[in-house]
Amino acid sequence: MKKCLLCGQDFIPATSFLRIFSFKKFHEQCLCQHCLTKFAPISGEHCKICYGKAAANELCLDCLEWQKMYGHNLLHNHAIYRYNDAFHEIMVNYKRYGDYVLREVLQELCFEQLKKIKADFYVPIPTSPEHIAKRQFDTVAAIYSQLVPLSFFLAKKEGQGAQGERTRSERLKSKQSFLVKEGIKADVNKHSVLLLDDIYTTGRTLYYARDALQTAFPQAKISSFTICR
Ligand SMILES: [Zn+2]
Ligand SMILES: [Zn+2]
Repeated sequence: MKKCLLCGQDFIPATSFLRIFSFKKFHEQCLCQHCLTKFAPISGEHCKICYGKAAANELCLDCLEWQKMYGHNLLHNHAIYRYNDAFHEIMVNYKRYGDYVLREVLQELCFEQLKKIKADFYVPIPTSPEHIAKRQFDTVAAIYSQLVPLSFFLAKKEGQGAQGERTRSERLKSKQSFLVKEGIKADVNKHSVLLLDDIYTTGRTLYYARDALQTAFPQAKISSFTICR
């Protein structure tokens, strides 16, 4: 028997592989069936570029806006769940209150889908230094570091605040806040890069991260992965 990390009820967990590359560690389910059903998998029709809400083979409203700015150079994003109350609640507890144990729930929600996407480099979206100091951990790296080998190519400029605390229009008006770290030895050009974040909201963060990497490595093939859209 195990206690569900969200509701505290006892349940019988199923066991599966967690680590994609080493297969060293088994993952024991940490969410009961009841809590799992509160999350809404994206199924059927969705935006062909970012998994947003759209009819099959159409673009969502966000991608139509990005198309005006970027033309054909759109960022393909893979997402698993629709943003809903259950996801909102878990992210508030994880990010605002720094509940580190919830990374296990987020890992459980994404690891099976993530292991289907192969990339040469998995690059997490960096958390600002101020937020790491506040929570004592990097919220994105904490989710993905036990699932795939991470390449910390990006840094965040200081004093930029978090997108999560901004309104939609403030997010879209935000300025480029990512830098590609100096002295990267890896041969990133001509290889595939999967950017990793928790949520795709407007796409602003991920496009800036993509732009920074694309400037440094013009021939890299960059796409992104988020648990939620
Ligand atoms: Zn539960
Ligand atoms: Zn879209």
